[in-house]
Amino acid sequence: MADGNLQPRPAAARRVIFLGAPGAGKGTQAEKLARLLGVPRISTGDMLREHVVNDTAVGRNAAPFLERGELVPDDVLLAMIKDRIAQPDCARGYILDGFPRTLPQAEGLEQLAHGTTDAVVFNMVVPREELLRRLSGRGRDDDKAAAVARRLAEYDERTNRPLVDYYHNRVKYYTIDGNRSLDEVSGELKQLVETGS
Ligand code: AMP
Repeated sequence: MADGNLQPRPAAARRVIFLGAPGAGKGTQAEKLARLLGVPRISTGDMLREHVVNDTAVGRNAAPFLERGELVPDDVLLAMIKDRIAQPDCARGYILDGFPRTLPQAEGLEQLAHGTTDAVVFNMVVPREELLRRLSGRGRDDDKAAAVARRLAEYDERTNRPLVDYYHNRVKYYTIDGNRSLDEVSGELKQLVETGS
């Protein structure tokens, strides 16, 4: 009878992708959501820094890009992600923080994960003036301000525009107002993963 419906169903594997400019708060939210869902948070920035510290081949390749604050080549990222999402702890899903950052990365990820998971994209949006304030701190250092402006411009061109185009009709895609308190944002994300996806 209806008894079968009362059995807890294993949750479908879920792939959550966070988009958002530097300073939008996606790392913090990704971490909170990972704990809530009981799946790993995969930060490609953390993984690359660990490779550098451990002086691996990937680390030696990536170090100059990291030092200049430039994007590491797509093939390096895709190879790293391929290995990572094949690990057993990703079987029930995973949360991506900082990946994909380019269209070829998004397309490559789709091939790697095709058909295995149900993707949700959260795009954390914060007004530019607020991002500049968060990233520049209080000092009025013109060099630093210029570097921050460059990073934001690169994010818009290489990540935000192509990936919003790519994802918004393809998967469950949500624009999240990141200009609110941490708890307000995490409350909305929790609600969306529990009901909307
Ligand atoms: P993050 O901690 O996410 O800001 O990443 C730190 C640095 O790692 C970035 O400035 C890039 O040099 C590199 N990086 C991290 N993720 C990616 C990615 N998906 N594609 C290219 N480079 C990346």
